[in-house]
Amino acid sequence: MMTSNEKTLDIRSRQQAQQTGSVTYFTGRPCKREHVCERYTKNQNCTECSKKYSKDYFQTYYKTNREIYLERSKQRSQTKEQKARCRDYARKFGKIRYETNREWFKDYRRKNKEKQQAYMEVYSKEYYERNKDSIKEASRYWRQNNPDKAASYREIRNQYLKERTPRWANLDKIKEIYLERDRLIVETGVQHHVDHVIPLNGKCISGLHIHTNLQILTAAANLNKSNKWETE
Ligand SMILES: [Zn+2]
Repeated sequence: MMTSNEKTLDIRSRQQAQQTGSVTYFTGRPCKREHVCERYTKNQNCTECSKKYSKDYFQTYYKTNREIYLERSKQRSQTKEQKARCRDYARKFGKIRYETNREWFKDYRRKNKEKQQAYMEVYSKEYYERNKDSIKEASRYWRQNNPDKAASYREIRNQYLKERTPRWANLDKIKEIYLERDRLIVETGVQHHVDHVIPLNGKCISGLHIHTNLQILTAAANLNKSNKWETE
């Protein structure tokens, strides 16, 4: 028996509700299942019964059409609009949550730094492998939509490489390694990167842009290195 709303609801006939355009009305009398609650003006149905009916209806439907239902909701969630909506929502509320709990987050990160790093090392590799195509696509999309920023990053990157290249560096040998990288990509169809063994902007020591400090890695292996700046 549903009685909790009884006290707060004003008695209002269906006719009154129709006149005022109200979606529901309340007579104070129980329905045949003894719910004392509002009824819909449109069809006189008890709101509690309607709720129960939709729930039962859905459950029966779900039981018999589980596969179809899951497939449809999967498709719905994979449309561009829905993805964008989810992303916006997550961004908005993630930001609010972060800003209201900033100290807690900082403290948490400090306490779990090593654990997180170990986890991220494994996870980022797995994540990349699983989402290789969409990551590449997103990156291409970003570069297309931010040509100025992309160019300026490239510019900064090139400037930095130049600074880390000593006068005595063997430029021919460096070029050879990049050509070899290109050849490997064509030959294997797998993305390869030229990587600096000692990172150019390492924390303790900084490497140089010289051929003995270069190695060719698959993109996946390179991504697993913590220094993302090395990717090119
Ligand atoms: Zn009812």
